[in-house]
Amino acid sequence: MRCGKPLADKRMEYCGDCSRKKHAFTQGKALWVYEDGVKASIYRFKYQDRREYARVYAEEIVKAHGGFIRSRHIQAILPVPLHKKRRRERGYNQAELLAKELGKLLGIPVYTDLFIRVRNTRPQKMLNDAERKNNLKEAFKITENIVQLKYILVVDDIYTTGSTLDAAAAALKEAGAAEVYTCCIGIGSDS
Ligand SMILES: [Zn+2]
Repeated sequence: MRCGKPLADKRMEYCGDCSRKKHAFTQGKALWVYEDGVKASIYRFKYQDRREYARVYAEEIVKAHGGFIRSRHIQAILPVPLHKKRRRERGYNQAELLAKELGKLLGIPVYTDLFIRVRNTRPQKMLNDAERKNNLKEAFKITENIVQLKYILVVDDIYTTGSTLDAAAAALKEAGAAEVYTCCIGIGSDS
């Protein structure tokens, strides 16, 4: 009911992680558990230029969660930005490709430069949970006045600890957003 992780025990509302800590985002949805084929697919999407996957992911997300997204009156879809340097190296931001396809399918405006990463963060996978949080502190900056945007969907490729999306949601709420929802392609299972 919070991060969108599928739970083995269907009677539970929150995963272990979400029962322990409070997230800045309201609720999240994920398409698939991040394992095997999904892992390989996202890897190609991210690092091997398979940009066309964005359309397929978006179609599947709309099939699975379109009703949820529509019911939340989302006014804007925002991709989690990459730092400029990393974007330059990669040539594209995979979250942005996904956000754009989702926006097209759902008829919701996509804003690609409303928030930016303000400093180069160390790769998250090198860090533990506490370090991740610190690593992302004030890592997002809102570039424009967004007080008219109350309901926002933030899109990323993978949900790991949620700390990136928390930092993004916190920045958006500080700027005036009422509810921030999240959507990812892959998410870990509750273990
Ligand atoms: Zn959770």
